[in-house]
Amino acid sequence: LFIFPNSGSEHVLSQPTDKSNDKLLGGLLAAGFDEASCTSRYQSYLYRKTSFYQPSSYLTSRLRNYEDLHKRCGPNTESYYRALEQLKSGQTVGSSDCKYVVWISFSGLGNRILSLASTFLYALLTNRVLLVDRGKDMADLFCEPFPEKSWFLPMDFPFIDQFESFDQKSSHCYGNMLKNSVLNASAESVPSYLYLHLVHDYDDHDKLFFCDEDQSLLAKAPWLITKTDNYFVPSLFLITSFEQELSKLFPEKGTIFHHLGRYLFHPSNHVWGLITRYYQIYLAKADESIGIQIRVFESRPGPFKHVMDQILACTLKEKLLPEVDMQDSVVTLSENPKLKAVLVTSLNSGYSENLKNMYWEHPTLTGEVVGIYQPSHEEYQQTEKQMHNRKAWAEMYLLSLTDALVTSSWSTFGYVAQGLGGLKSWILYKPENETAPDPPCRRAMSMEPCFHAPPFYDCRAKKGTDTGALVPHVRHCEDMSWGLKVI
Ligand code: GDP
Repeated sequence: LFIFPNSGSEHVLSQPTDKSNDKLLGGLLAAGFDEASCTSRYQSYLYRKTSFYQPSSYLTSRLRNYEDLHKRCGPNTESYYRALEQLKSGQTVGSSDCKYVVWISFSGLGNRILSLASTFLYALLTNRVLLVDRGKDMADLFCEPFPEKSWFLPMDFPFIDQFESFDQKSSHCYGNMLKNSVLNASAESVPSYLYLHLVHDYDDHDKLFFCDEDQSLLAKAPWLITKTDNYFVPSLFLITSFEQELSKLFPEKGTIFHHLGRYLFHPSNHVWGLITRYYQIYLAKADESIGIQIRVFESRPGPFKHVMDQILACTLKEKLLPEVDMQDSVVTLSENPKLKAVLVTSLNSGYSENLKNMYWEHPTLTGEVVGIYQPSHEEYQQTEKQMHNRKAWAEMYLLSLTDALVTSSWSTFGYVAQGLGGLKSWILYKPENETAPDPPCRRAMSMEPCFHAPPFYDCRAKKGTDTGALVPHVRHCEDMSWGLKVI
C-alpha cells in the first residue's frame, strides 16, 4: 500500500512499518555511516514510496561481504600497496590477495551512472574491488557508498593521467592484444593489468569480454581498467559462469539497477539540497505527481511541434494528464480540487511552457488542477560547468520521486530515473522524419535500462546469433530494436 503525498508536512509515504528497516531500504544499506556527511543516504526514504521490490537476503549479505572486502583492499591498505607493486612491475608474479576493477569516468552523467552500476555488478561477480576514477565531478555529485574506505582511485595511481587516451588501440587493450595474438584465451599468464574497451564503438575482439573462456583468462589479471558508456548487465546474464550467481542475487530479474542504483548513488549534500528544496516547494503538496522527461536527439534546438504533439498524444491517451475543455464551459471548481503536479525535465523550456499555458487557459474535464514545473532549461549539453551536472543529477532523482513517469527513447537520463524510482515508464518512441510516431508511446516491459551496444555472438558456436532471443529474461528493448534489456 502507498498513499499519495498529500498531507502537508507529513512526507512519509509508506505504510508504517519497521522504520529502521525502511531507512536502510530493506537491508540494502549498511548502518553506521556519519549521517551528516551524506544526508541523502538515510533521508531518501522520507521522499520515496517504499519500494515494491525487496532486495534478496542473498544480495544484502553479498553487499556486506563486498564492504568487508573493500575495507581490507581499498585505497591505502597494505593489500592495495602490494597490488600496486605488481601493477608497476608489469608481472603477475607474487601473490596479491586483492584484485581490482578500475572504472574510468567517461560520457554523460546518465551513461556514467549506468556503466558504473554495471561495473560494480561485475566486481561483485568476480570478487574484485571497484575503484572509481573521480573525473571532473564524481566526488562533487555522489557520496561514498562503502563504509570506511573510499571508492575513489587515489590521485597518484600510475596511469591516471593517461585514462583519457586509453582506447581500442592501446597496447594493454584486451581486444587489441587478442587481435594481434599477443594474448590468447588459453594463455597461462597475463599482464598485471588489462584495459577493457567496452565503449559503444568497440569491435568484435573487445566483445569477447562477454565469453566464458575470456572471463577465465581475465580472472587472472590483478588489475582490470575499464572504459564504457553502456549498461552492459544484460549480456552478463548470457555468460554461463555468472548465471547461477545472478539468479541468486536477483530472484526478481528486472530489479538489478533498481537495487544497485539505490545502493550506490546517494546525492551529495549539495545536490540533496537541490532535490529536497524543489520537492518541498513543488511536489510535496500534490495529490499525484507525473514526471515527463524530454530528450530530443536533434542537432537543431527545439521546441518541435511534432514532439509536443507526441507528448500530448501519449499523456492524454494513457490518461496520465487530464483533457482540457476547449469550449471553456463554466465549470465550478470544487473547494478542494485535486492537484496534479507535473515535473518536466528538458534542455528546452518550450514544452513545459506550452503545457503550462494549456492548463492555465482552459479548465480540465476532470476538475483537477494541473501544475507544470521545470527545474532548469540548460539549452544544450555541457561538460565544464559544475552546476550543470548537479542539476542534471537532481532532476533525474526528482523524476524518480514521481508517481508515474514518461521518458524519451534512447536516453540514459530517463533510464536512471525509472530504475531508481522503481517505475515502469511510458516510453516516447523516437520520432523519425520530424513526425510524431503513432502510437506515441508504450509502457516499459521492465524498469531496467537498455544495453545500447550488445554483442551478437554465440561464444560456444563461434558465430553470430540473436542474443535477444536466447533466454526469456533478456529481450530486445522497447525503444531500440538492437538493444538488450533484462525483463
Ligand atoms: P542521455 O544522453 O540522454 O543518454 O543522458 P546523459 O545524462 O548521459 O547525457 C545527457 C546530458 O545532457 C546530461 O548529463 C545533462 O548534463 C544534459 N541534459 C540532458 N537532458 C537534461 C535535462 O532534462 N535536464 C538537465 N539539467 N540536463 C540535461
